[in-house]
Amino acid sequence: MKVTYFNHSGFLIETENKVLVFDYYSQGGRFDFFDPKNYVGKDIVFFVSHNHGDHFDTRIFQWAEQAAYVLSHDVKAESAFRGEILYVKAHETYHFHDMVIETLRSNDEGVAFAVEADGKTIYHAGDLNWWHWDGESKEFNDQIAQSYQEEIQRIKGRIFDVAFVPADLRLADKYCWATDYFMQEVGGAAVFPMHFWRRFDVCRMLKEKPYGDKIRNITEENQSFSL
Ligand SMILES: [Zn+2]
Repeated sequence: MKVTYFNHSGFLIETENKVLVFDYYSQGGRFDFFDPKNYVGKDIVFFVSHNHGDHFDTRIFQWAEQAAYVLSHDVKAESAFRGEILYVKAHETYHFHDMVIETLRSNDEGVAFAVEADGKTIYHAGDLNWWHWDGESKEFNDQIAQSYQEEIQRIKGRIFDVAFVPADLRLADKYCWATDYFMQEVGGAAVFPMHFWRRFDVCRMLKEKPYGDKIRNITEENQSFSL
C-alpha cells in the first residue's frame, strides 16, 4: 500500500486494485497533484467528508469519467453532474465498489470514514476532532470532549492499517488530544497527522509521544510513503 500526502487533510491511498482519495484540497490549483493517468486500470474513488472549502474541492469532479465519488450528504455536486455518486450520512454502513464504508458523525460537519478496501482498513477523520479551544466555554469544550469520545468508542479496539487524524496546532497544547485518545482506544499501524495548516513540525512533535513509532513524518506536499 502506498500513501501520498497531498495537502491539509487530502491523501491518496493506492492499494493493489484501488486508488482512494480523501478530502482533496488543491487550494485553487496550487496543490493539484492528482493525475488519473498515473493510475490507469485502477478503481479510483474520491471521498469527501464534508462541504467545507478545505475538504471539498470541486476540481475533483473533472475526473468523473475515471472515478466514482463518496460524498457526505452535505456536499452537493452541481445538478448537471452525471458522475457516479454515493451520498453517505453518519452511523451507516455502505457497500460500494467492493468496499465496506462505515461512517461516524463528525462533531464539526459531515462524517468520518472507516473503510475496508482490498483487505486494508483505513480511518479518515474528516473534521471529527477533539476541538478543545482555550477561549471557548466549559459547556462547549465538555460537549466536544463527549462527542469526540462517543464517536471513537464506536470503533474501539480496532487497529487500522492506516489512519488519518487531525493535529491542529491552533488548539495550542490540546492539538494532540484527538490523536492521544485515538491511539489509546483504537490504533493504527501507520498514523498520519492532518489538518495542520502546513505546520509540518506537528509530525515531529507527535513522534515524541509513546505511540510515536506509528506516526509518519510528513515534511512536504506530494510526499509518498510505502506501507
Ligand atoms: Zn477542516
